[in-house]
Amino acid sequence: MITLDDVTLTFPDGASRVTAIDRVSLTGRAGILTGITGPSGSGKSSLLAVAATLIRPDSGRVTIGDVDATSLSRDDATALRRERIGIVFQQSNLLPSLTAREQLQVMAELGGHGAGHRRRAVRSRVDELLDAVGLADHAGKRPAQLSGGQRQRVAIARALVHEPQVLLVDEPTSALDQERGAEIMDLIARLTHERDAATLLVTHDLVHEGLLDELVTVVDGRIVAGAPAMGAVAPAELSVARAVRGAMSVEVSEAVPTTGA
Ligand code: ADP
Ligand code: MG
Repeated sequence: MITLDDVTLTFPDGASRVTAIDRVSLTGRAGILTGITGPSGSGKSSLLAVAATLIRPDSGRVTIGDVDATSLSRDDATALRRERIGIVFQQSNLLPSLTAREQLQVMAELGGHGAGHRRRAVRSRVDELLDAVGLADHAGKRPAQLSGGQRQRVAIARALVHEPQVLLVDEPTSALDQERGAEIMDLIARLTHERDAATLLVTHDLVHEGLLDELVTVVDGRIVAGAPAMGAVAPAELSVARAVRGAMSVEVSEAVPTTGA
């Protein structure tokens, strides 16, 4: 379970600040796929970045399971993220030189799970996940040998390596055609239910609304539907996606310094 409690996030904007998230409260429950929708610039990616503990909010609290993530040090937040949170972005962010299987193995071995007798367990878990996302026959391929939809499947499998309680997914279908996009959405819904993840899924494509267990709409940093609406705020234009991807690639490249290019 993940809970955002009265979260506000602002960014510097010249001499003043812009409010990206304005007093949002939101709960994601185990086995429930919660969609987050809203116009571009409304704060959806910011919300996921705060939920992912990648950005600390100005105020409010993020609770993952029974842990108050907003009170953790940077290192403890990184450890929490590895253990309990799976993250999938718009772009799959795979390492070009690694095969599908290796992308998952690298993730599995973060945190010392790769040593000695554990290695066989890692290998079988990785293969089980690749099978679950329909890529059993493509485990030995590198990203360039895979289609966009297949790369997103690898990213989803990779996000699930640590059996996260919380799965955070930001517009996973935006680079895919409609059929491939629908397959990815089906997959996320199925894995959420099968693996009992609390999934928050940002999407602006409500074609998939029928797959969602819950839906909240964000406008100008506030939830306007699916939960009580709140106070007033100014809109703005920039995107947090780059900051989030930057933070992710730092984490990955720490583990695989030779493939960071
Ligand atoms: P969405 O994902 O819904 O398109 P974002 O969360 O990316 O919206 O952005 C919400 C608002 O927060 C934007 O309009 C932007 O002004 C502001 N914002 C996001 N990231 C940054 C940043 N790194 N620096 C300054 N402002 C930002
Ligand atoms: Mg976004």
